[in-house]
Amino acid sequence: PGRLVIAGCGLHPGHITAETVNAISNAELVMVVVPNPLSIVHIQSLNPRVENLAKAYGEFVDRQHIYTAMAERIISTVRNGVDLCVVFYGHPAVFVDSTHIARRILLAEGYSVQMLPGISAEDCLFADLGIDPGESGCQSYEATQFLLNYHQLHTGAYLLLWQIGLTAAHLLRSLRLNGQGISAIVQLLQQWYPDDHLICVYEAATLPGQSPRTQWMPLSELENAMLQDWSTLVVPPLTPLVLAEERLAWLGIEADRVA
Ligand code: SAH
Repeated sequence: PGRLVIAGCGLHPGHITAETVNAISNAELVMVVVPNPLSIVHIQSLNPRVENLAKAYGEFVDRQHIYTAMAERIISTVRNGVDLCVVFYGHPAVFVDSTHIARRILLAEGYSVQMLPGISAEDCLFADLGIDPGESGCQSYEATQFLLNYHQLHTGAYLLLWQIGLTAAHLLRSLRLNGQGISAIVQLLQQWYPDDHLICVYEAATLPGQSPRTQWMPLSELENAMLQDWSTLVVPPLTPLVLAEERLAWLGIEADRVA
């Protein structure tokens, strides 16, 4: 019977894990959604039976359409009895729709599905910027979803906005409008942060040995920043954490005994 391993290859060949190398080597067929040519060459050296899923669906403009089409291709291949490994860049569960769709549907149909973790852009971000997400907490949102939904923002924690360079792009494009997604994001962030709050546009290295791009600027300058499809926005904490003194009592501790 068909089965599926969903793996991630990190952002460049140096990031691939030993278990992912094994999964690729042992698969009957490998499908990749990997923008990095070096990673594709590396994957092909592990297994010559590689199909580039991203290429096949490049012509669609509507992203949701692409994700569904990719998931359908994966699902039908496994239904046809293929022992399939799909490889996405970064971590295959992080800000990716098609892997979750394929996983859910194939599991429900009784197929064996395994998802292997990979090194995500966020992992690189923490390492390159020296951020410990446990220090204050860290909230991660997809930029367009963050813009268009009410989220309870915590200014004492880090805020990461994924796909910042694509904010509302598909909505604006499909309505044939020239609006600026990024100015809407700035307008929204100004509800919590002052204009001079320092933020960073981050792009991890996609070649081994390359340096990341980190562009720090005040919030008010974000509209002029160079943003790519692969940029992530980092907003450091503005306010200190506030001790919830009354909860000490829940632990049977008196407030004045805590420094
Ligand atoms: N699964 C991927 C993320 C896919 S969503 C992962 O685990 O990393 C695409 C978003 O990821 C981009 O819009 C950006 O926010 C982030 N991203 C991808 N490549 C990146 C890079 N080289 N540097 C910084 N962020 C990146």
